[in-house]
Amino acid sequence: MKKDFSPTLLDFGALQIYLARHFGFCYGVENAIEIAFRTVEENPGKRIFLLSEMIHNPQVNADLQAHGVEFMQDTYGKQLISFDELTKEDIVIIPAFGTTLETEAILRSKGIQTEKYNTTCPFVEKVWNRSESIAGKDYTIVIHGKPAHEETRATFSHAASNAPSVVVKNMEEAKQLAKYITGETAAENFYTEFAGQYSNGFDVTKDLKRIGVVNQTTMLASDTQAIADFLKQVITEKYPDTESFADTRDTLCYATNDNQTAVTGMLDTDADLAIVVGGYNSSNTSHLVELCEEKLTTYFVKNADNILSQNEISHFDLHTKTEKVSVDYLPGTKPVKVLITSGASCPDAIVESVINRLTAFFGLNEQMDKMIGEFSE
Ligand code: SF4
Repeated sequence: MKKDFSPTLLDFGALQIYLARHFGFCYGVENAIEIAFRTVEENPGKRIFLLSEMIHNPQVNADLQAHGVEFMQDTYGKQLISFDELTKEDIVIIPAFGTTLETEAILRSKGIQTEKYNTTCPFVEKVWNRSESIAGKDYTIVIHGKPAHEETRATFSHAASNAPSVVVKNMEEAKQLAKYITGETAAENFYTEFAGQYSNGFDVTKDLKRIGVVNQTTMLASDTQAIADFLKQVITEKYPDTESFADTRDTLCYATNDNQTAVTGMLDTDADLAIVVGGYNSSNTSHLVELCEEKLTTYFVKNADNILSQNEISHFDLHTKTEKVSVDYLPGTKPVKVLITSGASCPDAIVESVINRLTAFFGLNEQMDKMIGEFSE
């Protein structure tokens, strides 16, 4: 079915908000949060750990911590609580990103039931299953993802258990990898250039003759597609007589895709600025910011508190990785037109509070409440 990706206009007169047609929580995140809170409710008195952040949203994670849940690792896999402290009575929840086979094995060795509290998103599992199936046909797995991200580490671990695997962060790295396919770069350079990103025993002279590309589900779908198309062209030119490229197009996550396409739809409007709401370490939210930045001034905020006043906004700069304050972010002309969207790990209530904050500056809260009332009727 063809989906509608045009934004919803909330017309308050002096303020016009274009809300992305698809934004916020995806199935995987909703499912994971529900399981986590149910686990807390059903297990009073038990120690409950999360392998790492449930999702990349500070409010959701703080809420879980307030319910007594402890994080075992940080986002980059650094151990915060030693696995040695676990007993078989403890509960360990596997987050939506999934985990590595190595971590699963450690948990099992401690007597922890990993299946019961596993919130790995089915769309991430789909990537693993697809990797396994193409591995069975002797393809090497190229993973488009951020090498340190939990999901990429998990996908890499699963892929590497079945086939030679290598991670590429972006098109530049894909182009470098292509030079090993064509033989343009000497094979021995691969091991330093891609250090930490290839599986044990990877033989660059043999393992780049048949490949398939899968991705960290929150990468920009268009980037993954461009990388896959590029590598397909390179490898089929080099090895024209064999099925050297496996089609893996169907592994792109629907939610990431819809949220990204909805942003593209939103950018057709003549908005003055964009506000993207989500956790600063959220990969999918960062990609929405990148998409908006291509067209107009964009502010990446965690929540409504970042909107300090009508003149000042505190926001995250993706390029310098710092939070900074900008002044005069709202134009003097009326109506002010603002695009708003949020990442897959951002609760809708946070988006609503951002809208509330903006309408308050224009004395429009009453109208906002009326509009919400009409929506919920
Ligand atoms: S973004 Fe997609 S793959 Fe990731 S948790 Fe959500 S639904 Fe699952």
